[in-house]
Amino acid sequence: MNEKGLGRKEIISILDQSKSQDFKYNRVLSSMCTYPHEIAVQAHMQFIESNMGDFGLFKGTYNLEKEVLSMLSNLLHHPDAVGYTTTGGTESNIQAIRSMRNVFLQRSKCEKPNLVVPDSAHFSFDKVSDILDVELRKASLDDNLRVSIDSVLSLIDENTIGLVGIAGSTEFGQVDPIKKLSEIAREKKIFLHIDAAFGGFVLPFLDESCEFDFMLPGVTSIAIDPHKMGLSTIPSGVLLFRSPDYLESLRADTPYLTVSTQYTLTGTRSGAAVAATYAVMKFMGKEGYRKTVSQCMELTRYLLSRLTEINIHPLVEPVMNVVALEVPEPDLIRSRLAKEYNWQVSITQNPHGLRLVIMPHVTIEMIDSFVQDLKQVLQT
Ligand code: PLP
Repeated sequence: MNEKGLGRKEIISILDQSKSQDFKYNRVLSSMCTYPHEIAVQAHMQFIESNMGDFGLFKGTYNLEKEVLSMLSNLLHHPDAVGYTTTGGTESNIQAIRSMRNVFLQRSKCEKPNLVVPDSAHFSFDKVSDILDVELRKASLDDNLRVSIDSVLSLIDENTIGLVGIAGSTEFGQVDPIKKLSEIAREKKIFLHIDAAFGGFVLPFLDESCEFDFMLPGVTSIAIDPHKMGLSTIPSGVLLFRSPDYLESLRADTPYLTVSTQYTLTGTRSGAAVAATYAVMKFMGKEGYRKTVSQCMELTRYLLSRLTEINIHPLVEPVMNVVALEVPEPDLIRSRLAKEYNWQVSITQNPHGLRLVIMPHVTIEMIDSFVQDLKQVLQT
């Protein structure tokens, strides 16, 4: 750091330059984030100094958090759910499994607890395993790239603390057979965490209904991210538990704050993101999200029909606005699309393909232009 500060103009100029090196979302087909809604940005700025880590000082923001949790608990069919706003899916997943492990270990002695997750689980579960010293058992996928129930059953033993189901997998956007997982969890008396970080703001607003939430009695916790399809600002995640016992197992004493206990992973937490989530959810209402999801799904179908014209097909029929495509040499295609046409797309591992996420910033013009560029890359 310099002894003397820089002038405002100089700093703004450096910021502008840095910003110009960032990708604009109009060339991004790989991200599960998008431009936040303008009302979320306004709320974020209004609450910029608010710290939910010491919410006794920020009672107004705390009340907004309670409202957000209440809106999401109702959306996910369990008005009595408890939880808190996290920094996103990773933190929600860590805390859900931490609670699972703590409650399990309170009930029974176990040297090496294990967790059964689908092979399609987000890499945050590898972090979970490392941080919490819980063995990760990866269940294989079926032909539709959803977890195989036989594989899940074969991995459960007396040290299994719980199961994870994905409602909108990162790579394929597929939804695991959560009803079946719920039945297994109930039968085996183990926990079931649902990672709906992406799908939580999609599935309730699709035309076709899908059972993935607390409506299923075996589901004990859910991660849902407002900073993805919820159109809130980053960092906005939410973790909800069916019962207060699970949240209680995360309790830490906080003697020097205005409140005496915390359940969160981080200490200082953004109240701005809480206000942003509140504002955008109130503004959009179910009707607004239904419209957004419907537009994304319409564009997803349009993309698929345009790709058929160039003989490119999905690896699996998309359930939501995530598309995995069968292309020759996906890594090469991806890097050529980036180098020659400035497109950002990603890849799936197994099966190997080209992955596109049709977020609310995607337009029909973007899709037309992308398909034309992909055609060029494939032909040369
Ligand atoms: N879970 C799923 C299904 C995801 O798709 C992602 C991110 O894309 C995460 C968890 C992690 O979320 P975050 O990056 O907000 O921590």
